[in-house]
Amino acid sequence: MEPVRTCLGCRQRAPRPSLVRVVARDGRVAVDAAARLPGRGAWLHPDPGCVEQAIRRRAFGRALRATDLGTANLLADIIATQTSRKG
Ligand SMILES: [Zn+2]
Repeated sequence: MEPVRTCLGCRQRAPRPSLVRVVARDGRVAVDAAARLPGRGAWLHPDPGCVEQAIRRRAFGRALRATDLGTANLLADIIATQTSRKG
């Protein structure tokens, strides 16, 4: 059985490998590409729609227990992660 996580954007459950882990780091939301950083993490689809939904609902602050997290580069970071993963 694959571990399942809930996407912070669309709130749908999905197998972990299809989601991207993010953590709060240096006052902003950072992509945890290897899913190994310590601390609270949140999961979401590497999809612009899901990222935008999570930002609009301020879901990151709630999920990561931090306020005023910067998300300016988050979408670009997630897309870069996915691109490098595909090689
Ligand atoms: Zn989603």
